[in-house]
Amino acid sequence: MAGLIRVLGAGIVGLAVADELLRRGHEVEVVDPAPGTGASRAAAGMLAPAGELWHGEERVLTLGRRSTELWPAYAARLGVPLRSGGTLLAAVDHGDLQLLDRQVALVRAAGERVVELGRRELLSEEPRLGRVLGGALLPVDHSVDPRAVVAALLARIPVCAAPGSRPPAGTVIATGATLPPPYARLVRRVRGEILRLRTADPPQRTLRAWVHGQQVYVVPRASGEVVVGATQEEHPGRPVVTVEGAWRLLDSARRLLPGLDRAELVEAIARDRPGTLDNLPLIGPTHDPAVTLAAGHFRHGVLLAPLTAQLVADHLEHGHVDPAVDPRRLLTQGDT
Ligand SMILES: Cc1cc2nc3c(=O)[nH]c(=O)nc-3n(C[C@H](O)[C@H](O)[C@H](O)COP(=O)(O)OP(=O)(O)OC[C@H]3O[C@@H](n4cnc5c(N)ncnc54)[C@H](O)[C@@H]3O)c2cc1C
Repeated sequence: MAGLIRVLGAGIVGLAVADELLRRGHEVEVVDPAPGTGASRAAAGMLAPAGELWHGEERVLTLGRRSTELWPAYAARLGVPLRSGGTLLAAVDHGDLQLLDRQVALVRAAGERVVELGRRELLSEEPRLGRVLGGALLPVDHSVDPRAVVAALLARIPVCAAPGSRPPAGTVIATGATLPPPYARLVRRVRGEILRLRTADPPQRTLRAWVHGQQVYVVPRASGEVVVGATQEEHPGRPVVTVEGAWRLLDSARRLLPGLDRAELVEAIARDRPGTLDNLPLIGPTHDPAVTLAAGHFRHGVLLAPLTAQLVADHLEHGHVDPAVDPRRLLTQGDT
């Protein structure tokens, strides 16, 4: 596509798209009145297609694997550290162990590597754990600090608060959980509450656990911060941190890692994940030839950002579309 490309939205997805287009020599205008303040600000930053796998979402796993392969070079180019070492799964009681076994079977059936761990092996992998019955290691998962990624992209890409007067040749919509009409109905808002703690003794790897039936994850950052997440609830209102949400996360996290009792509570934040009807993102054309979507990344926007950037740029340059994420699957002919 020749001419100016306007990217609406400067979250991790819009910025990654703009960066890729600029790298390929396109003229780009990014528009966002509040860059980097959407879901990307709240995200834990797990690059964990296996750890985040849900029943029925095997196609997300395939996309996640493709994007995971891009992440090491992507993070290196942006100068952002990538943390490897995998995800440790842990179960606290017998019911939790059943839930963990189900997750292990799902991940294994999808062809991912899983190392099952007995109680002793789990504790030797992570001695900070409290009472646990067993677990598993998903060795290929990574994590990254999404705020550092967004900051690195914002340092390269100017963002305007409002569109300029020059008409663009094409527009890429990457506005997260609030798409403009006529696309708004394609995205459902799924609130996620998440906490940031600071501790002198963080766990060494990402932990994902079942604690008396509640799921919790703990993601360590190189800075000593740990992220504890996350709630998940569809709702029509403004995303706010609730007492129940914060309490549930803290209660599960401190049962899992009793040392967190002495951690400093740094931040509680809630944002809407941009979910879709089939939980797959919307990347590619609409029925309007001037409008491309890069949206609906739900729980995987950080993971999928580098792949999305390539898919959008390939579409704009060569008309390529990946059928699994083609937005037209959810659009009717009446929608433009
Ligand atoms: C608690 C929580 C934890 C998460 N953890 C992970 C994780 O571990 N790994 C992972 O991969 N994903 C995770 N996610 C999901 C991830 O955060 C999202 O999928 C991702 O941030 C979506 O990025 P985005 O750029 O599409 O949207 P956003 O980050 O929401 O950005 C959208 C931007 O669009 C702007 N905007 C809105 N309307 C307009 C408009 N009309 N014009 C111009 N700009 C506009 C907003 O100001 C905002 O800056 C998590 C999400 C939550 C809430």
